[in-house]
Amino acid sequence: MNRLIERFLILKNNYRNYDTKHALKRMQAFRQAVRELCNKGYPVAIELLGSISFGIAEPCSDADCVLLHYCDLHQEDGECPVHCPNLIFEQEEIVKTLKKKLPGEMFHIEFLDWVNLKYIENLVKRGQTRDNEIVYRLLYYRTMGRPVNRPLVVKYCEILEQDQELMRGFSEWSSAALAAYLETPTHRYSFNKYNERIINLGVSLPPELKEELIKYIEDIQL
Ligand SMILES: [Zn+2]
Repeated sequence: MNRLIERFLILKNNYRNYDTKHALKRMQAFRQAVRELCNKGYPVAIELLGSISFGIAEPCSDADCVLLHYCDLHQEDGECPVHCPNLIFEQEEIVKTLKKKLPGEMFHIEFLDWVNLKYIENLVKRGQTRDNEIVYRLLYYRTMGRPVNRPLVVKYCEILEQDQELMRGFSEWSSAALAAYLETPTHRYSFNKYNERIINLGVSLPPELKEELIKYIEDIQL
């Protein structure tokens, strides 16, 4: 299963070199949204998942994101409840900026998950980071996603990654999580759509990417 993660990452990195114009524009809009929130005193980062993490976003593709933020109200919980005022404010601000920067684009912005970095910071301070699902989720999103404001998160990930026992636990956990994700029909659908489009446009993929794509498709069909 770990081979699957490696393949997924190679593929993701390769696809990124083929960013669609919309993927680039959307990335810029996300960066702007995060910058504006940071300027208002709400330091946040986002991991983008789904089509944009492969650079294949179209104007109608949904934006799947994970919000990484600081919340003092729920610092013992790891994740804020949906009605958390900080969470609601941050999500609304992000959506507002995106709509402003991408007028006329009809896409849905979905916050799939969120992680409270204040909680992570506390765990790191206390040395209690092992065997913790919130820690695993943070590492997973950092591995699989496309970051907006990476520096905010990477300082924690670097500390966590030094703990070999923690990383062994994470490796098992993340393999299972990835397998579950690859099983989702929308993931397969967006891939098929993209590959069809490439073929229709007559764009020739470099041989290594083609090879990776074939291996990946074989793997997910197992
Ligand atoms: Zn909260």
